[in-house]
Amino acid sequence: YLTDLKKIRLAPTVSQDGVTIDLQTNIELPRDFENVREVGASGVGLYRTEFMYMNRETPPDEEEHYETYASVIRILDGLPLTIRTLDLGADKQVDGGRQSGPVQSNPALGLRAIRLCLKEPALFRPQVRAIMRASALGPVRMMIPMLSNVHEMEQVLQMVTELKQELSDKRIPFDHDIAVGGMIEVPAAAVCADIFAKHLDFLSIGTNDLIQYTMAIDRVNEEVNYLYDPLHPAVLRLVHQTLQAGERAGIPVAMCGEMAGETEYTRLLLGLGLREFSVHPAVLLEVKQIVMHSRIRDLEKLARKALQACSGGDVLQLMQS
Ligand code: PEP
Ligand code: MG
Repeated sequence: YLTDLKKIRLAPTVSQDGVTIDLQTNIELPRDFENVREVGASGVGLYRTEFMYMNRETPPDEEEHYETYASVIRILDGLPLTIRTLDLGADKQVDGGRQSGPVQSNPALGLRAIRLCLKEPALFRPQVRAIMRASALGPVRMMIPMLSNVHEMEQVLQMVTELKQELSDKRIPFDHDIAVGGMIEVPAAAVCADIFAKHLDFLSIGTNDLIQYTMAIDRVNEEVNYLYDPLHPAVLRLVHQTLQAGERAGIPVAMCGEMAGETEYTRLLLGLGLREFSVHPAVLLEVKQIVMHSRIRDLEKLARKALQACSGGDVLQLMQS
């Protein structure tokens, strides 16, 4: 079975009915970059940067960001890299107690990710500047987590515009067309994905948080874990709506949450219209194998029924029948 999977590593990812699917990887630590090519991924769809802030007292400066990105761009050797800006807070706390201020009784709904970054430009700006500088070294995209309203997006885009001017003035090289995208992981952003799609270059659905917030369950609370249901029709409708918004705006929409790499959902996601998956390297070839055996036309019918189902259980039955 494993040798079978290895054989398809270099094959194009095309469904039985000729639809090409893009398979990228999620990366958490720099050492994982060695695996990207090994599994035949087309690039990195999610590079989480929180690791740089862990186990230390002070945040990394611009140079450290830049050097870190430069070294992985070197390893990727031409494959595209999607760097997600800092997503601290909630389930991703740093040690050293830098996140001062009042204790948040509801951290998942509190000051995290882009909210924290916009409140503390001294934390955010060096990272954005470093990502922009790194874009001179290879194909780099910048991805913003936890967007919930348009104003956040505008503030980020404003910062990017200012930095472009500053870097140009100083003759520091960067990719003038660097793509800036957003994660769709808050239901408000999924419902209004069409609005975000007008201003961003790409979207990526973060199902880990999207499910948490849609179902109003803390993703790390074991008491309510049983409600964490990727097949809940509400989740499927939000995913579908986001995919449609991207299609209408003519921008790519990926999925980088765990759901994208859970092979029992691959067919349903294809049917819903997902064409870009970003998954853990360990499961990429399994997803690829399913894609290569799928007829998307048929899966679209399945997805239409799933969107009309009454419960996750009903969707599961549909998928099994
Ligand atoms: C997600 O929320 O689905 C996601 C990919 O981001 P993280 O798991 O890092 O919050
Ligand atoms: Mg998330």
